[in-house]
Amino acid sequence: MNRRRLVAGNWKMNASKSMVETLLSELVRQSSASTKKEVLVCPPFPYLDQAAALLAGSSILLGAQDVSTREAGAFTGQVSAGMLRDVGCQYVIVGHSECRQFMKDTDQVVADKFYQAKKLFLRPILCVGETQSQREAGETEQVLAAQIEAVLARDVDAFSAAVIAYEPVWAIGTGLSASPEQAQQAHQFIRSIVAEKNANIASRLQILYGGSLKPENAERLFALPDVDGGLIGGAALTARDFLSICDAAEVE
Ligand code: PEP
Repeated sequence: MNRRRLVAGNWKMNASKSMVETLLSELVRQSSASTKKEVLVCPPFPYLDQAAALLAGSSILLGAQDVSTREAGAFTGQVSAGMLRDVGCQYVIVGHSECRQFMKDTDQVVADKFYQAKKLFLRPILCVGETQSQREAGETEQVLAAQIEAVLARDVDAFSAAVIAYEPVWAIGTGLSASPEQAQQAHQFIRSIVAEKNANIASRLQILYGGSLKPENAERLFALPDVDGGLIGGAALTARDFLSICDAAEVE
């Protein structure tokens, strides 16, 4: 199955008005529509509106880094899926390991966020991944299965309009990426979990790799049969690196 690749930049808590202007203007100038890949940027909430204006008319898509489990009301500090739609987002990241770790998002909370996004026609990017100690204890598949099954338990067809990002926690921001063998094994396993419920959805599902993805390793990782693009943190903050990863997604 020929799946279109997705190259997604997760800016985390890094931005300013001038940085958004400079980086996005450069990306818009240098990227062109492609049948092989789509490009997505996920800036922090306060800059989404500015980003939407800069991306208007380009092929670059816009996403957010998190979403509330609630629709509206007395939830101070929260941002709803409806608001994200309203400012032009098409995607939202849910269950990033930093939210699981620092905000204590459980698998159930992540599933609530996933379905809030879907309800408002935002494509969720569900992040899954094991810690170093879980890998060393041989628990990688168990952890991935639990994180995915929390979503599938509510709807076996949950991934019909969604993306999964495999992000081993030990590889995020550390400079240590998964080896091609480790990445392919995890991605194949993830696809098999979804295939148990719906083989057709599994074969179309985009599964991104995230964790110290850089221009130097992107082509090798994107060449793997079950890797359909990347979720990129640090390297998404400079136009040159991000564009070079986008170029790697064009290689057959
Ligand atoms: C991320 O934040 O999702 C990520 C993969 O970060 P980095 O590329 O910096 O490891």
